[in-house]
Formats: sequence, C-alpha cells, structure tokens
Amino acid sequence: MYIKNQVKKLSPYKPGKTIEEVKNELGLEEIIKLASNENPFGCSDQVKKQIKENAMNYAIYPDGGGTVLRNALAAFYQLPGDHFILGNGSDEIIQIISRAMLDSSKNTVMAAPTFPQYKHNAVIEGAEVIEVPLVEGHHDLQAMASAVNGQTAVVWVCSPNNPTGVSIAEKDLVHFLDQIPKDVLVVLDEAYYEYVTAEDYYNALELINSYSNLIVTRTFSKAYGLAGFRVGYGMANPALIQSLEPVREPFNTNALAQQAAAAAIGDQTFIESCRQQNREGIQKFEQFCHEHGLTYYPSQGNFILVHFNQDADDLFEALLRKGIIVRSGQALGFPNSLRITIGSRDQVDQTLKAIRETI
Ligand code: PMP
Repeated sequence: MYIKNQVKKLSPYKPGKTIEEVKNELGLEEIIKLASNENPFGCSDQVKKQIKENAMNYAIYPDGGGTVLRNALAAFYQLPGDHFILGNGSDEIIQIISRAMLDSSKNTVMAAPTFPQYKHNAVIEGAEVIEVPLVEGHHDLQAMASAVNGQTAVVWVCSPNNPTGVSIAEKDLVHFLDQIPKDVLVVLDEAYYEYVTAEDYYNALELINSYSNLIVTRTFSKAYGLAGFRVGYGMANPALIQSLEPVREPFNTNALAQQAAAAAIGDQTFIESCRQQNREGIQKFEQFCHEHGLTYYPSQGNFILVHFNQDADDLFEALLRKGIIVRSGQALGFPNSLRITIGSRDQVDQTLKAIRETI
C-alpha cells in the first residue's frame, strides 16, 4: 500500500497522558491534570443551560456553515460573518491552511520550539520546514522575516507562544508584518488570547483589516473551557477565507459544539473571571520561583514554563506519582523545564507543595 514517505517517517502526535491512563498505571483515585492547558473552571453555566434546555435534532447533519455560531462571532467581534472559518478545533484550521497552501514546492517558516502541529502538518504536505530558534522564549521575528524567500508560502507566529507563554508586542508584530511579502500567508495563532493581560499587546482585529495576508486563529478550547467539543476559528479578510473554504470538510464542526460555542461567547463575565484567576495563579508561580531560585518565562497564557536544575522527565514522574500530570519539557525542546497549566487556587497550591517536596 502506498503511504507518502514523509508520513512514514512521522510518529502519531501524542498530546500527553490522560487522567484514565494515570489512574490505571498508578492506581491513584485523585488526579489533577495540568498538562494540556485546559480551563480548570470548566465552561460558563450559560453553556450548560443552553445545551440542557435546547436539545437539537441530532438525526440531521449540522449546519455546515455554522450560521448561529458565525453570527455570534460576527456580533461579538463586530465583523461581517464572511471573515470567519470554523474548524474542529484550531488544530483543524492549521490543517486546512496546510492542505490549501503547502506542498513539496513550498517552504514554511516557524519558531522553534512552538506548537508542534504547524510542523506536523507541513511535513505531511511535503513542504520544507524552516525553524527559527526562539531567543529567551521570544520569537526572533527579525530572523523569521529574513528566512522568508521566494518559495515561502506560510509563516506561523504563535502569541502567546506554546510552550513558553511569551507574547508579542504590537510594535514588533507590526514591524514584522510590514516585512512579509503580501503573497506569503502569516498565521497568527492566538489560542491563549483570552488570557492575555499585557498592555503592549496588539489588536488582531485591526491587523486583519490592514494586512490581507494575515489570518488569526482562536479557539473555544482554552479560556472558554470547551476543549471536549473541538471548536476553533480563523479570522481574515473574506477573499482569504474563501480560498481556504474548499479544503474544509462540509460538516467539520458538529451541531452540539456549534451550539455550545455560540452560547460561550455570550458570557464574557466568565472569561473575565477566568483571566483574573489565571493571572493570580501565574503570580503565585512567579513568587514561588523567586523564593526557590528557579527561572521561568513570563507567561501571558494559562500555563508557565518553569526551568529546574534537573531532568524534566524525572520531575514529571515524581509529580505523576503524587497524582499531578504536567508536561515534561523533554518533548517540548526544554529538557530541564516543566510546562504547567495554571489550575484553580487549590490545584496551584497542591502543585507548588508537590514541587517543593520534589526539588
Ligand atoms: N494552538 C496552540 C498554540 C495550542 O496550544 C493549541 C492546543 N494545545 C492549539 C492551537 C489547538 O487547540 P484546539 O485544536 O483545541 O483549538
């Protein structure tokens, strides 16, 4: 059977240990999962109410265009509905962009380390991947712009970056966008946008009006607490959205997920409260690091990458035995670091206690 050579070389993408796996392996009852940057507070009560009270006819296919969700997004962002493409998670938006724009005649530029799905999808499409090392957790935007050449189709920018949490300042991003040729797509992945509190952060909506080659991706998986539903979206000018639409599967976002996401965006009080509690959690971690002589990257996401003076896998295992699943930096390109999702107040306290007992 024919399998593309580049696919044969890839391993399946493993997003970390699940609660069930750890329960089975270690016989533990209580598990705290802080490995995939999910929302410890779940989702808004309005979402639960909406789903409970408005059962749909699941015998019929979902609205492929996602009219209700699209209208909710359009109202929230004050942008016409034709500026959005919906995906089964923003993972799928990344896949759609890669399928539409990358092949073996093209290359694609990204930071390293960054969110692994950009590279994974580019490799599947046979494109050459140009990785530009981070500098102190930051994208080296100057080097990324310089890496763009006549074969470059897509440049990926992740802000706040996973796994470092570092965000990009407006002036740096604008300077970068000004250097990228208009026929090269820039993907600005803002999966953690709702957690950002930095004052120098840019306004992505203004940018998509000014740069026709920019698409901004966001998700309902993080602050909105709907990772299980798988809904993400891209925002760009309508011509760019239209050029991607043929690649999207006709019913890619399911009916229940569309309903939940539309209700979720209506509750910004919930998002504000999650953003504040997350900031408090980050500050606790930063304080802990100062007290224990540990370094970290200043995070604008709902996770923090903490550097230790020991092997991350050993630390990861030690925390696992205490029932706390975090992400070892080994697979993320930071062999002595752990990426830890900011949990609820109790979860943060338990995690810091466990780390204190371990290091
Ligand atoms: N982008 C980044 C930077 C992420 O960290 C993630 C999830 N870990 C995603 C995209 C994908 O999120 P989802 O598919 O759940 O929207």
